[in-house]
Amino acid sequence: MQLMFVLIVLLGHAVFLFDMLPILYKYEFEKNHVVFPMFVAFTNFFFFHMSCTADPGEITPSNLEKYSDIYKFDYKLYYPKTFCRTCHFMKPARSKHCSICDRCVYRFDHHCIWTNNDVGGLNVRYFIMFLLTLVFMAANGVYVASHCLFLYVEKNDIMKASVLLNSGEIQPVTFQIAFQWLV
Ligand SMILES: [Zn+2]
Ligand SMILES: [Zn+2]
Repeated sequence: MQLMFVLIVLLGHAVFLFDMLPILYKYEFEKNHVVFPMFVAFTNFFFFHMSCTADPGEITPSNLEKYSDIYKFDYKLYYPKTFCRTCHFMKPARSKHCSICDRCVYRFDHHCIWTNNDVGGLNVRYFIMFLLTLVFMAANGVYVASHCLFLYVEKNDIMKASVLLNSGEIQPVTFQIAFQWLV
């Protein structure tokens, strides 16, 4: 799934490189169209890497005491003297055992299949930044793609063109026809 994520992002950027950049530089050659998208992509990859590799807060016998002091038991979801059957110690409040990674994690959130790592108290900041930069990258992709299409339509007077229908009739281009043709 990690490879799949990287592949999807790279494929998206291949479309940007081969289909959009030539249009952008043809009509807006004075602007720089590369630096910002590359900055967004590398920031996202950085936080993806950190989410994959950073310690989520694995609980071991040596740090158990430290993690046990952070949260109090609420006697609703978390009770004292709850033992992890695998790790053989008393689970601190808000910790949980991940069966995939086979470890107890401090302030466990979930096991993410995309990062192949747990999201826990110590790496949640990287995970949230990963999600935020990902949403931003996707939104920027939508913006750049639509900007490309509008630029192409404007510079080529597409909306002033006419269409020859199958019936032999000629009609002015509508927004739908232009969109269909561009895509
Ligand atoms: Zn896990
Ligand atoms: Zn455990």
